[in-house]
Amino acid sequence: MADYQIHQFDVLVVGAGGAGLRAAIEASAAGAKVGVVTKSLLGKAHTVMAEGGMAAAMGNVDDRDNWRVHFADTMRGGQYLNNPRMAEIHAKEAPGRVRELEAWGAVFDRTKDGRILQRNFGGHRYPRLAHVGDRTGLEMIRTLQDHGIHQGIDFHMETTVVTLLKDGARCIGAFGYDRERGRFRIFHAKAVVLATGGIGRAFQVTSNSWEYTGDGHSLAYHAGAALMDMEFVQFHPTGMVWPPSVKGILVTEGVRGEGGVLRNKDGKRFMFDDIPANYRSSTADNEEEGWRYTQGDKSARRPPELLTRDHVARCIRREVKEGRGSPHGGVFLDISWIKERIPNAVEHIKKKLPSMYHQFKQLADIDITQEPMEIGPTTHYMMGGVEVDADSQMSSVPGLFAAGECGAGLHGANRLGGNSLSDLVVFGRRAGEFAARFAKENGAGTIDQAQVNAAAKRALEPFDRGPAGENPFAVQHELQEMMQDLVGIVRTESEMESALGEIARLKARAAKAGVSGNREYNGGWHTALDLDNLLTVSEVITRAAIERKESRGAHFRDDYPARSDDWGGFNIRVTKGADGEPVVERAPVKPMTDEQKQIIEENK
Ligand SMILES: Cc1cc2nc3c(=O)[nH]c(=O)nc-3n(C[C@H](O)[C@H](O)[C@H](O)COP(=O)(O)OP(=O)(O)OC[C@H]3O[C@@H](n4cnc5c(N)ncnc54)[C@H](O)[C@@H]3O)c2cc1C
Repeated sequence: MADYQIHQFDVLVVGAGGAGLRAAIEASAAGAKVGVVTKSLLGKAHTVMAEGGMAAAMGNVDDRDNWRVHFADTMRGGQYLNNPRMAEIHAKEAPGRVRELEAWGAVFDRTKDGRILQRNFGGHRYPRLAHVGDRTGLEMIRTLQDHGIHQGIDFHMETTVVTLLKDGARCIGAFGYDRERGRFRIFHAKAVVLATGGIGRAFQVTSNSWEYTGDGHSLAYHAGAALMDMEFVQFHPTGMVWPPSVKGILVTEGVRGEGGVLRNKDGKRFMFDDIPANYRSSTADNEEEGWRYTQGDKSARRPPELLTRDHVARCIRREVKEGRGSPHGGVFLDISWIKERIPNAVEHIKKKLPSMYHQFKQLADIDITQEPMEIGPTTHYMMGGVEVDADSQMSSVPGLFAAGECGAGLHGANRLGGNSLSDLVVFGRRAGEFAARFAKENGAGTIDQAQVNAAAKRALEPFDRGPAGENPFAVQHELQEMMQDLVGIVRTESEMESALGEIARLKARAAKAGVSGNREYNGGWHTALDLDNLLTVSEVITRAAIERKESRGAHFRDDYPARSDDWGGFNIRVTKGADGEPVVERAPVKPMTDEQKQIIEENK
């Protein structure tokens, strides 16, 4: 143990995105000694990429909005597999978290009378997303960092956790390495908060950054926590499709919120062709009404382009499959058409969607104020994650908490856009508060030398095998391609069974991964270590997806295309069995209270 540097904390937070920073601030404010470990540099976490905004029922733009409507929208979007307690806490606490960010210096866009401006987004009944143009995540990260930096939090940048340390059943810290020198570090803590984000890099086409290799999901699973709802991977309908080098990069839903429309190669607005029964009464039935909605007409209903992401993604896939797609395998998203409706359209688009304007101009040489964009579905968000207690965010492993995208429960079968940024601060704050409380009530556990030695030995094995071993990049690439083809947007039993075979084969190859060079900034080595996490989450996703024999939310089965009432009563939990193999089980969904049921009825 003397070989490795040891850091002692009350609370260790793994991840410096919105969830991790908010957790760290809260734990620190409660008097805990807090450390934050992040795989990348401070300010570079994936949260920085968030564009459209943060959902909170403040009612600034439409005073009919309140927490009850937000709760009902979130539950309906999640197709009632959400943990209702989490959905209620989220809807009630999000406005307070937005105001708190404002008090800490976030400069949100404003209404004419000076209140925080809110925009329309898919699945939200009223304009609800507090935003800063299309750079909301940047403002959130900047604000949390500026605030957090004064709290005496100890940051460890470019440091990757590879295993959690346990004392009996309890989590008592983590073991990792720094990228700069490749030195091992022990983080000894009374409580650990995982805030590591998502899993998008398990798929080939994704909007996610390189950090999203499912580390928190995998760390928690191997430490004995349950993963839940892992079959629900969100494919966002609008990612760039051309040129190939930028395929998957997100095109914010804000484009559709501002009046952008989807058309096929024949110029038809195909979203009007298929409006699900449970959204029919709240969806416009003609283009004129849809436009009025995007311009704030309270008597109008939303255009079908703003239906939930799972549905829009499948409609796009249908158009492409049936030969009505754009030249590069997507469809057209057009915001430039609004010049037919408003006089200063070019300035308006540039003001409302500055990042989108620059993104297309620089990456695809397309001026979105003048011509349509080509877009298609991209792997975007993981609804599934570590099963946690709704109030405290503690997992089934004592002392181990999870918040943000690596946690589960709030979103059920499908997340509404904007509900992630609010999730981060609502449940990040709670995770920090309860982790600090846990740390106060429990002494530091004892670090087991054997666990540390085993983790270090495992981490160095790719160097022992050297360049004669398997190329980790090749294994990662094959995994991504395979998951995209066999466990993607439309699934069947036989394809997913073959995926399991492929995963077993890739696991065997990953176990032989070899790298050359030294430990300083060695990308091959880091990829070899990431493989374990990517393969773990890929297997859990596939097993959960095979188990759910219905189509619901983001999970669509060609062999079971209908939603089943029976399956509506269960979440799927996956834990690691005593033999090391995944154990898949059905867990009854958490029941709603009478008041929650009444809210759902009122908002039907
Ligand atoms: C392009 C894009 C636009 C989006 N727009 C919106 C939006 O408008 N509204 C909305 O609500 N949501 C949006 N989302 C989703 C939202 O941004 C994410 O779900 C959210 O930011 C996740 O935050 P997080 O704190 O959970 O994780 P992150 O912000 O990703 O942070 C994860 C942190 O964990 C660290 N980490 C990971 N693994 C390890 C490890 N092994 N060891 C140490 N550190 C580790 C990373 O380095 C990072 O610091 C968008 C997503 C994308 C991709």
